[in-house]
Amino acid sequence: MLSGATSQAPAARGYCPFIDPASGDFIICTPDKTQFYVHRVIIANASSVFADMFSLPPCTSNGEKPAIDVTESDEVWRLLLDFCYLRTDEPSLPLHIIIGLLEAARKYCMAAITTWMRRTLSRPENAESQALRTYAIACAYDLPEVARLAARGYLSINLRLPSSVGHEKAAELDLMSALQYTRLLDYHKRCSDAAVAALTSTFELERLPSLVLMHQAIVGGCRRCRSKDVNTVLVPDPSGGEARVAIRPAWTKYIERVKEAMKTRPVPAQALSSSFLDPAIRQIAQCKSCGENIHGKTKAFAGWVQAILEAAISAPRAPSWATQK
Ligand SMILES: [Zn+2]
Repeated sequence: MLSGATSQAPAARGYCPFIDPASGDFIICTPDKTQFYVHRVIIANASSVFADMFSLPPCTSNGEKPAIDVTESDEVWRLLLDFCYLRTDEPSLPLHIIIGLLEAARKYCMAAITTWMRRTLSRPENAESQALRTYAIACAYDLPEVARLAARGYLSINLRLPSSVGHEKAAELDLMSALQYTRLLDYHKRCSDAAVAALTSTFELERLPSLVLMHQAIVGGCRRCRSKDVNTVLVPDPSGGEARVAIRPAWTKYIERVKEAMKTRPVPAQALSSSFLDPAIRQIAQCKSCGENIHGKTKAFAGWVQAILEAAISAPRAPSWATQK
């Protein structure tokens, strides 16, 4: 595998410690003829494959550094070596480069590179903004934590609308099986169902006592409001009896609107959306007494609804669903 090669001026761009022909004790040659001058002890530390390779006697004895031809691009190798030479920042990387690094990590047994890519894929720019493609990569490279984050990010996609992400152009999708994709769709539906169910029971009997204790002023309104436009329901009170509780129609409508939104995009933060809250705020603000600090009070109530949704869609799910073929 090792062969002799003379030192050449590096074609590498920018500064890195492994482009100096006087440096290192062996050479990595990429398909586009870039040469990297690497200290074998450093790369052997990161890769058991290279460590095994270097345990063999060197092939050359004429003063030339041994060289190895690799199949990965110079861009991938530059990043691999950056990491081996303890680069401290973690740049944003396009997905095809992330795949190249994961493939190299698999080929050369570089566990630290896989860990680095796991962190990179978990960032919002990938797991949220490119959720489907990130999910596919996670499936291919057995990264269940990334798959879960990406599946969570995929909840913000409205599956009833035509795809706007150009799936047909996303080569990463070939990396996952039909079964893995089906699991993603199933997860989306289960989260949606769980969120709708949680909201359905929000104004039903079993949840109301705690709601009333925390938010009665905003949910039911003042005595004057309650005398005119507020529905009342009977609920079990904490002492085991029944209590009559007031709920403004504005909140019933708010819950219905959020519930409708959960059917297509089960994202808990939608509970805070002004498009759902503003109609309630406008109605409540008509009462001087109830309108005091209305934004703070409605935000607290909406935060409570968000927490209910978060709990509903965070229910434990099969831990290995993304890694099974
Ligand atoms: Zn009032």
